[in-house]
Amino acid sequence: MTKIRKSSIEMNPEEFRKIGHQLIDDIAEFFESIDQKLVTPHESPILLQKLVGNLPIPENGQDAEELISKSTELLFNHSLFNGHPKFLGYITSSPAPIGALADLLAAAVNPNVGAHILSPIATEIEKQTVGWLAEFIGLSSDYGGLLVSGGNMANFTGFLAARTAKAPMSIKDDGVGSSSKKLTVYCSKTTHTWIEKAAILFGLGSNSIRWIKTDPSNRMDTQALETSIKNDLENDCLPLMVIGTAGDVSTGVVDNLSELSAICKKYDLWFHIDGAYGAPAAIIPELSPLFEGMKDADSIALDPHKWLYCPLEAGCALVKNPQHLIDTFSSHPEYYNFSNNGEGVAQNFYEYGLQNSRGFRALKVWLTLQQLGRRGYEKLIREDIELSEMLYHLADNHPELEAVSQNLSITTLRYIPLENTLEEEYLNQLNEHLVNDLQSGGEVFLSNAVVFDKYCLRACFVNFRTSEKDVVEIIEIIVKEGRKIHLRLS
Ligand SMILES: *Cc1c(COP(=O)(O)O)cnc(C)c1O
Repeated sequence: MTKIRKSSIEMNPEEFRKIGHQLIDDIAEFFESIDQKLVTPHESPILLQKLVGNLPIPENGQDAEELISKSTELLFNHSLFNGHPKFLGYITSSPAPIGALADLLAAAVNPNVGAHILSPIATEIEKQTVGWLAEFIGLSSDYGGLLVSGGNMANFTGFLAARTAKAPMSIKDDGVGSSSKKLTVYCSKTTHTWIEKAAILFGLGSNSIRWIKTDPSNRMDTQALETSIKNDLENDCLPLMVIGTAGDVSTGVVDNLSELSAICKKYDLWFHIDGAYGAPAAIIPELSPLFEGMKDADSIALDPHKWLYCPLEAGCALVKNPQHLIDTFSSHPEYYNFSNNGEGVAQNFYEYGLQNSRGFRALKVWLTLQQLGRRGYEKLIREDIELSEMLYHLADNHPELEAVSQNLSITTLRYIPLENTLEEEYLNQLNEHLVNDLQSGGEVFLSNAVVFDKYCLRACFVNFRTSEKDVVEIIEIIVKEGRKIHLRLS
């Protein structure tokens, strides 16, 4: 007689329903009351380690209901909530609730979106999602790509495609060291740190990066770019790619993408755009001139977990000719039997990027895109920009605040006490204290930026929960804290 296996990891349907319903109730209440909480309790690592405890892995199993309930309590009471209306630090959005449901559904079915045969409907949904994201930011339907964990990985994907396309073929067999010419890449000083990681990790070395200076509007100086390329060509280097930024991480500035594209054409370079933060703003008709040139990019990185309001993690790499991804990432070991698919072409996503087994990130993006539609996104993104402008104007009109910059949905500002004889060094020190005190106080969460040598508070609006009332209150909080610190320091 064969035995039916009874596995302790399984939950019977009643138990799953009971725990699941309770969890959904708790999450609904969490979303409903999130604005009543502090943005962060700002507890020390020591205190948190005590909470987690230092027991060894339990010898015997424990009750699932109790485990979920304890974890709910831990997370709801000891987290920083980027879903809070006054979280405007760095660039992480409030997570769309439908995205949370999507992740639960995706985890339950658990498709492995590495190969079509292992994830039939999920692969088709991811393909559609990638196509929609390209369309969303105004690209032609030629673009293909895949979802990745975030902006860094999306940029890495573009970087590697560029390396394959523009470096000598021999590097696939003999490594980057086999190129007789030094490989070089070009980007502005404001480019996000991913480029350093990429240059180091993918064999070019950090000295291969040509950091091009910016013009007074903080965009890459295109004349300096061309001079640098010419200089490298004369000195036996092999320029590979130019990286333009569509929404820089500190101040939201968009490079002159059309000019960068023209320079890439002239010198036969790969044109990559880092649109991790800013690319979705291309959906706003008045802003579309800023993003002209995006449609010429060979590759683009964007980040649905930023301005498309999806929960972490969701990045997307788009490549104009997806064959470059296959040339870069595809391999065919004998143990893969992935071509037995019937009618139509089966896309195997493992051939398009770094990952092999892949989760179903696309579902949350696909569902959020549909829940909102183009109109819905246009409205939310426009409102984020308007709130950023409002913060700038309120600061500009306040005697104790200086509005420093405003681009897309990023505002920088600083606190300046009323006496006007204070040194820049003191103001920088004061505002650095201010960022720290605001972050630990939990009433509002802003980050920092140094703009024109001024240490600033930085607010990035990618938060569908923030309203005008929050912006007014944030001004009050900043001034209140600024005064306190000035009293303390002076
Ligand atoms: C956020 C950001 C990145 C990095 O993206 P992650 O999702 O954090 O990996 C890269 N470039 C820019 C411009 C960004 O704003």
